[in-house]
Amino acid sequence: MNAKRDPLFDLSGQVALITGGASGLGFQMAETMAEHGASVVLLDADGPGLEVVVASLARAGAAVEGHRVDVTEADAVRSAIDRAAAMHGRLDIVFANAGINAGPGIVRPEGQLDAVDFDQWHKVMAINLTGAMLTLQAAARHMKARRRGRIILTSSIAGLQAQAQLGYAYAASKAGVAAITRLAALELAPFNVMVNAIAPGPFMTNISGGRLKQPEIAEMLGRIVPIGRVAQPNEVRGLALLLASPACSFITGTVIPIDGGIMAG
Ligand code: NAD
Repeated sequence: MNAKRDPLFDLSGQVALITGGASGLGFQMAETMAEHGASVVLLDADGPGLEVVVASLARAGAAVEGHRVDVTEADAVRSAIDRAAAMHGRLDIVFANAGINAGPGIVRPEGQLDAVDFDQWHKVMAINLTGAMLTLQAAARHMKARRRGRIILTSSIAGLQAQAQLGYAYAASKAGVAAITRLAALELAPFNVMVNAIAPGPFMTNISGGRLKQPEIAEMLGRIVPIGRVAQPNEVRGLALLLASPACSFITGTVIPIDGGIMAG
């Protein structure tokens, strides 16, 4: 972790906070931030999972802490972010990444309009959209005051284009994430705070109970990806680093697909 760093991607001395950091894409974001010099703060609802990844990052030499926080709980999100900023005296990078998939897509009768389950709808909205909004709001307060910062939200290609495999609630929540990314980018541009979103295609994480890791599911989804396969979690690192780094000084308001070419078609 001590190799000489390119200043464009050097995060030495910075503080990065990641929601959903205990697994999948969030863990990759955290590890990349640490490898490029940042102290990392992980927030996740999964306490035991958090302990495991905090211990593994610390063993690799990272300055890391983890806090059990459910992103749907407004006071908990605000106080965890305020505490991180106060303890470190700064907050440079925030990933609003925690999210869940839930419910089948329209390819199955249970995923079609007549069958939409509104308990599930509200749950997905609360985590994916309200949770991202609360994280964005709390992060922006600190960054505006210091007139610098990077906020990266995790949307999905399902928020940008109809994906028949994914449910209504998921699509709507991720389209919402893309919308708040653009609005916040405009509001925060005068404060030198860059706000962008990543829009992943299929990645083999633990989402949907790890479904994408099953070989037959991965193969089926791989067929809709121009590159011909689903992604490994670590393939998010380059884009995450770019959007968090000094290299992102003139990039704001974008929602960038990382999808093996799906959105090109
Ligand atoms: P994952 O399940 O591996 O990780 C998600 C993490 O979020 C977990 O650690 C989980 O405990 C945490 N989390 C869930 N609900 C939470 C809550 N209420 N409060 C705090 N933490 C909570 O899944 P992932 O694929 O790494 O998902 C990360 C993000 O990427 C999500 O927003 C997801 O919608 C998005 N995404 C994933 C894919 C994909 O194919 N994996 C595609 C597009 C978008």
